[in-house]
Amino acid sequence: MTLHQNLIAGEWVGGDGVANINPSNTDDVVGEYARASAEDAKAAIAAAKAAFPAWSRSGILERHAILKKTADEILARKDELGRLLSREEGKTLAEGIGETVRAGQIFEFFAGETLRLAGEVVPSVRPGIGVEITREPAGVVGIITPWNFPIAIPAWKLAPALCYGNTIVFKPAELVPGCSWAIVDILHRAGLPKGVLNLVMGKGSVVGQAMLDSPDVQAITFTGSTATGKRVAVASVEHNRKYQLEMGGKNPFVVLDDADLSVAVEAAVNSAFFSTGQRCTASSRIIVTEGIHDRFVAAMGERIKGLVVDDALKPGTHIGPVVDQSQLNQDTDYIAIGKQEGAKLAFGGEVISRDTPGFYLQPALFTEATNEMRISREEIFGPVAAVIRVKDYDEALAVANDTPFGLSSGIATTSLKHATHFKRNAEAGMVMVNLPTAGVDFHVPFGGRKASSYGPREQGKYAAEFYTNVKTAYTLA
Ligand code: NDP
Repeated sequence: MTLHQNLIAGEWVGGDGVANINPSNTDDVVGEYARASAEDAKAAIAAAKAAFPAWSRSGILERHAILKKTADEILARKDELGRLLSREEGKTLAEGIGETVRAGQIFEFFAGETLRLAGEVVPSVRPGIGVEITREPAGVVGIITPWNFPIAIPAWKLAPALCYGNTIVFKPAELVPGCSWAIVDILHRAGLPKGVLNLVMGKGSVVGQAMLDSPDVQAITFTGSTATGKRVAVASVEHNRKYQLEMGGKNPFVVLDDADLSVAVEAAVNSAFFSTGQRCTASSRIIVTEGIHDRFVAAMGERIKGLVVDDALKPGTHIGPVVDQSQLNQDTDYIAIGKQEGAKLAFGGEVISRDTPGFYLQPALFTEATNEMRISREEIFGPVAAVIRVKDYDEALAVANDTPFGLSSGIATTSLKHATHFKRNAEAGMVMVNLPTAGVDFHVPFGGRKASSYGPREQGKYAAEFYTNVKTAYTLA
């Protein structure tokens, strides 16, 4: 089997490989991917540092051409790359292709942004003096990504980093290196100069830690768990570097008495169970007012029974497998905890077998849960959700906001008054009305607050805040 190597200083390097296993069929090896060492990470950082002076001053047409070519190739290969994504992560093929298209669109967006770089010229308060405000690249950027969006998250960090003239050391999650390797291969062939983009696949505790420990990495953008995010923050403060964190969530989805029942059920099922519940924007807390509670739970039960859990690549599958054994253990542990805490497991929750050996879990819905239970406070990151019964809108909003996290928040209602009030008062970075808590556009800001995020927003024009430093220059006329 071909070994997919790391890219350091423009060369494909690396010996020992790790098998990338398909969670729908653990007999299926997706590929062999090199495992970088701490020394490799140091070489990658040195290469990015050496490439920075020239790339930071490169012409905008050169950057535009590389990003546009990359977008075009990703979109042209969407079926093949989407299949690779589903094979390595376990999302359904439709979800894998959808995520791949989104990655292509992100590169297209930032190809356009290279041609729209601009500053400001303003008068000084002192007559005869002009002030120019410009943006300069942040420097060597470290990119660390999680396993649950194997192509979209790398795309939404790589594309703006390159657009604004930064050089990169990129460490994808070891569990899903395939899509990251494919994007780096495309960017490399699209004509990136040596050392501008370096790929170091391997363990976070080794490769990621070497990036955190290096004074030559001037900015780190991280998506992953809150625990690792804290390590990134502490190390970054030590080195006085810029950092951006996107972490966990415990996103609420509120259903009010006046909701359209079918809209509420579709949005709740999507929020809780699509992509196997493994989305940072997934909702695992469904907060329902008492007038609609029983009808909503009954309709959810019918909808859950119709969900097909099977091989991600099979036509007709709605829910693919859990990503690996350790995540499956975490999901089943939380199901046991929920029962012990007194919540009622109303539907699903069984580990099931299919034709191929994989990590299949029947989507689980608890009822009679309270917001104090661990299943309502801690991120589970699987197809496990709990319904919390509340009296009215005011209690629903209070429960929705009673969480350490603040990424996404949703409501199902036909009341303009409640929708408007919720948009203003939900303590989250993103608010959805009559829509699932997950599913965001590529051209507008993404991010949260409280324990979910730290630093500037990702995506869209707002990405410039992280990937550039602002300079203010004064000239006596
Ligand atoms: P982890 O925090 O375990 O891993 C994220 C990345 O950090 C991986 O590449 C990992 O490497 C790396 N890493 C681990 N240890 C270190 C270290 N000491 N130094 C530097 N890097 C390190 O998260 P998961 O991959 O398990 O992802 C799931 C989590 O991500 C969930 O909590 C989810 O909510 C969150 N998430 C948040 C999103 C958001 O935008 N808010 C979006 C998507 C996910 P490796 O795994 O290879 O060892």
